[in-house]
Amino acid sequence: MKIAESVNRLGTETAFKVLAEAKKLEKDGKKVIHLSLGQPDFKTSEHIVDATIKALKDGHHGYVLPNGTIECRKAVSRKVKSLYNANIDPERIVIMPGGKPTMYYAISLFGEPGAEIIYPDPGFPIYKSMINYTGAKAVPVNLTETKDFSISPEKILSLINKNTRLLILNNPHNPTGSFTEKNKIDQLAEGLKKFPDVAILSDEIYSRQIFDGKEMPTFFNYPDLYERLIILDGWSKTYCMTGWRLGWSVWPEQLIEHVIKFCVNNHSCVNAAIQYGGIAALDGHEDELNNMIENFSLRRKLIVDGLNSLNGVQCNLPGGAFYAFPNVRKTGMNGQEFAKRCLYKAGVAIVPGTAFGSFANDYVRFSFAASRENISKAIEKIEKLLK
Ligand code: PLP
Repeated sequence: MKIAESVNRLGTETAFKVLAEAKKLEKDGKKVIHLSLGQPDFKTSEHIVDATIKALKDGHHGYVLPNGTIECRKAVSRKVKSLYNANIDPERIVIMPGGKPTMYYAISLFGEPGAEIIYPDPGFPIYKSMINYTGAKAVPVNLTETKDFSISPEKILSLINKNTRLLILNNPHNPTGSFTEKNKIDQLAEGLKKFPDVAILSDEIYSRQIFDGKEMPTFFNYPDLYERLIILDGWSKTYCMTGWRLGWSVWPEQLIEHVIKFCVNNHSCVNAAIQYGGIAALDGHEDELNNMIENFSLRRKLIVDGLNSLNGVQCNLPGGAFYAFPNVRKTGMNGQEFAKRCLYKAGVAIVPGTAFGSFANDYVRFSFAASRENISKAIEKIEKLLK
């Protein structure tokens, strides 16, 4: 067998590898505290589950439109209007099986040999993986601890050249939990006006997980960019629906026919009944979401204080998402050694910074989507390990 060369350029998501190693330890009778996975540890709300079950009982079991049912797309449009006061035609919305396909299709639409795509490093590993897969040049924009891992408009704009086709942004940010405030995003949006040929993929999957009551600096705020703006969002993180595989995206009008072709060639359509659950989530009450954010806020303090109390560990306060990204260099270990020892010696599963790019050797990612009890226990265990 000879497989295509491009397949060798695909990367992966190490969080799943850490999970597999942790599960193996558990199978061997070891106790593991899981702080590696990027998913909320709360249940999907009952009204969402009920609407999905009802849809199945009502017979919504067949194929539906590849870009999503019109009811679901209208619900997204209503939500965007209520959250951001933006008017988005449902014909520009595509319902996806999760957030990832939006990434895959957007990068496939612009990536080819000779093209350049700018992406955050550290960042979600699939950006670089997909850029490499297409044969385009992956151009990292380094997010640094000294700047609180936030987006630097100057740095990004300085990387754009005549080959740049796409700029990928993620705010709030995985893996660092950084949150870039609106004034910086305004500055970037203004600067991007000088580069009308560069498309923007704004990954806003953590748009509802922001602390201290701050406003989401969404790219919906810039109608001038709509002709080249792709927004990635979805139900996974906001409504605790990671395993449902349901996402939504907004595209420039002229890209819609191409995106729909990707959908038809790849997944045909998204599960019909689940889209009813999606509508119930968007139109329903958000008590559980508010409760989750309150919980995350308490856990954030607990984990950051705990990490900063450890010898040689330094952690910035995350402004969004549910990740802490401490620097562990002063423990005498790099991120990879630290994560390995945490798993095998302390029974705490975390992800090394190298999983997220080439500028993150000294870091590890803790997900605080775990109970306060488990967070405290994990800190105690690591404290013992470091002693
Ligand atoms: N974008 C970012 C930044 C993520 O962290 C994730 C998942 O962890 C995704 C997109 C993908 O989300 P989904 O599980 O809905 O495909």
